[in-house]
Amino acid sequence: MAGKTVAILGATGVVGTQMLECLEERDFPVEKLVPLASERSVGKKVAFRGEEVEVQLACPEAFEGVDIVLGAAGDATAKELLPEAAKRGAVCVDNSHAFRLNEDVPLVVPEINSADIADHPRNIIANPNCATIIGLVPVWPLHQKAGLKRLIVSTYQAASGAGMPGLKELERESRVLAEGGEIGETKPFTYQLAYNLIPQIGGFKDEMYTSEELKMQNEGRKIMHLPEVRVNCTCVRVPVMRSHSESITAEFERPITPDEAREILASAPGVKVVDDPEQLQYPMPLDTSDQDLVYVGRIRRDLSAPDGVNALTFWCCGDQIRKGAATNAVQIAEYLV
Ligand code: NAP
Repeated sequence: MAGKTVAILGATGVVGTQMLECLEERDFPVEKLVPLASERSVGKKVAFRGEEVEVQLACPEAFEGVDIVLGAAGDATAKELLPEAAKRGAVCVDNSHAFRLNEDVPLVVPEINSADIADHPRNIIANPNCATIIGLVPVWPLHQKAGLKRLIVSTYQAASGAGMPGLKELERESRVLAEGGEIGETKPFTYQLAYNLIPQIGGFKDEMYTSEELKMQNEGRKIMHLPEVRVNCTCVRVPVMRSHSESITAEFERPITPDEAREILASAPGVKVVDDPEQLQYPMPLDTSDQDLVYVGRIRRDLSAPDGVNALTFWCCGDQIRKGAATNAVQIAEYLV
């Protein structure tokens, strides 16, 4: 397989750093690595395959000769620079929200809609929101069996979902509290996160749902090709370093039992069933960090469902930096080589 020139836009961030590891672990055919970031990071080094590679300034010319760009920067940077990369012939797999809902940009979770990757007329493919990926990986095989109608989701999202600043802030707050100090400014969070929960991720939008909560519905509809599916989501930031957790109630067209769900999920790609409550076995974020599977457990009937047989409730956890971002992007890139 011919080696590729691969650029990482945002190579110094939480997702970019993880991408370097994923490319290495998955033995992606990288002939040349081009790590890009802001002026702040120019000249810093990132480690790749036992070597130190110098970070360059992310600017349009930096994409000359690049085959694949893995985007791990914010919306504004992605909007400004990825079309420049695409214009120069690179195919971009982007983690930001910038292009996710554009009609001519596929939005892909490979376990669900890898067939959409082939049609990328703008040379841009979008990686979905992290909580959406973690939730939909187990929902999809259940949908194939029973026909999804509606989702009610509560997310418990890790501090590192807010990038390197979020990760560092939770570490700092935990240290300060242990030492009996004053917390002071809590950026990037609106409030202290340590010993607390914050029921807001993103800005308030339609009917006072947050932007993060609407992603689960809008991106979910596009990924699953289910424009009618109804989603009610509440997103909460929790004092966990890494791995998002979700409580999901899924209502289906047809009956499905918890045992059937366990059997389907046991052989579903990207999923690991950890569901033995009598032995106190269920998914937890500490166990799901730094690996690629979405763990699913606490699978049970939805006692509130009108007919009692068409709805299930379960709990899942997955590493949002890996499967929710870097791994998913590298999986998509694997279809391009
Ligand atoms: P992060 O840790 O804050 O990293 C941001 C990266 O973007 C850094 O490498 C930063 O470089 C670079 N950057 C910032 N401004 C730039 C500019 N003007 N030009 C070029 N590069 C610039 O953020 P992150 O968590 O990795 O998130 C990256 C993207 O992935 C975001 O769109 C985010 O929404 C998305 N995402 C994140 C997660 C997650 O769990 N964290 C999950 C899914 C998707 P400097 O170091 O030079 O500032």
